Amino acid sequence: MITPLLPTYRRMQVAFERGDGMYLFDRDGKRYLDFYSGIGVVALGHCHPHLVRALQAQAEKLWHVSNLYEIPGQTRLAERLVAATFADTVFFTNSGAESIECAIKMVRKYHHDKGDKGRYRLITMSSAFHGRTLAGIAAAGQEKLTHGFEPLPDGFDVVPFGDLQAVEAAIGPETGGIMVEPIQGEGGIKPVPDDVMRGLRRLADDHGLLLVFDEIQCGMGRTGKLFAYEWSGVTPDIVTSAKGIGGGFPLGACLATEDAASGMTAGTHGTTYGGNPLAMAVGNAVLDILLEPGFLNRVTEMGDALHARLAALQQRFPEHIAEVRGHGLMAGLRVPGVEPRAAVPDLVGRGLCPAPAGDNVIRMLPPLIIENSHIDEAVDIYEAAFSDWSAGGPPAP
Ligand SMILES: *Cc1c(COP(=O)(O)O)cnc(C)c1O
Repeated sequence: MITPLLPTYRRMQVAFERGDGMYLFDRDGKRYLDFYSGIGVVALGHCHPHLVRALQAQAEKLWHVSNLYEIPGQTRLAERLVAATFADTVFFTNSGAESIECAIKMVRKYHHDKGDKGRYRLITMSSAFHGRTLAGIAAAGQEKLTHGFEPLPDGFDVVPFGDLQAVEAAIGPETGGIMVEPIQGEGGIKPVPDDVMRGLRRLADDHGLLLVFDEIQCGMGRTGKLFAYEWSGVTPDIVTSAKGIGGGFPLGACLATEDAASGMTAGTHGTTYGGNPLAMAVGNAVLDILLEPGFLNRVTEMGDALHARLAALQQRFPEHIAEVRGHGLMAGLRVPGVEPRAAVPDLVGRGLCPAPAGDNVIRMLPPLIIENSHIDEAVDIYEAAFSDWSAGGPPAP
């Protein structure tokens, strides 16, 4: 018999009641170190006082008005994001999938309005994740996402991850853009190498394509820069954001250059909830902290510390850990002999919450406010777990 709650998730048998900074607490008061932040969403930790105050103050003033009116918090957040990035303009959404949808529509409209109506296709990379709308699953092209949901919207050409030659070969007269995650999240914490990032920019320039970076998981300070693409020195035309940008309040954004956004004139796109005053109050509060002098440098320091400790862990347990991946506070352990979907509940039972990802990876996206003591605590738990798994075999799926 179907459960009242649509059973699309295989959920772990734990329910959290409260969160405080780096920690979650269940109904029995047991404490868990959060190394996943609700998929990188709670980027400043649970119930950050600055965010709580911003949300409470706004909740007492105004929750929602339509985008038919001026929303000053939107203008302010857009101006601040524009000042901090490559972008000239921003559209606010409620989720990553909607940001992706905006980006896809923007690419199509761009070419349409330049008189190139047939250039509607986007090249994407295998093992990508671009959200769960029909266009998002078609863009990612993974069988596990698309199976049973066909027919899918047309317009996406998936090439092997990181393969620049395959991207070039896939460019045809109908290609309008290239869309990649600078670091794949769901796919298993896979960074696109810098030379490939630069190659994508070159190909886009040579062929008049728009370059879209999906930074929904890797952006908003996660790697120690506001956006991960900044490490490569490449400038995109469009960036999608969500997750960390709202610090736990549903918020997404599509950032673009003036040229890329040139087709998105009044009436061409819209949203009821996107950019509502509550989301804008929290979004601005998140940015207050991310842009504080020294904050992102501290993320880099903590990311380096985490990676150093994970590298040492790999040396200690080479039979389990084949590879440490990622950048900054976006990290993965590839554990070919362990099923991450079984390992993660085992770790959660020990009081540490990472998450599984593709390619047999245990994924870590801890809150950016992490300190060395939390890294110590996580590594202690991993050591105990890997020791037990060496003695008694890895947990069964
Ligand atoms: C989570 C994610 C999405 C989808 O975001 P939702 O808010 O779940 O719609 C898209 N792209 C990437 C890279 C993501 O990590």
